[in-house]
Amino acid sequence: MQPSQKLSRSRTRSRRSHHALSSVNLSDCPRCNKPKLPHAACANCGYVRAGLSLKIEKES
Ligand SMILES: [Zn+2]
Repeated sequence: MQPSQKLSRSRTRSRRSHHALSSVNLSDCPRCNKPKLPHAACANCGYVRAGLSLKIEKES
């Protein structure tokens, strides 16, 4: 089956107006000041919140 009518440029472009990606929101780790994802453990030092941090296993 083929589409019965060609979509106009306007239709195509207005559909794609919602396709833009937004940048990742990063916050700074309070312990090591590296950027980290909010609500996630810091990849550098494992800090989550006061009194809780994860062990980071270094590969080397
Ligand atoms: Zn950190």
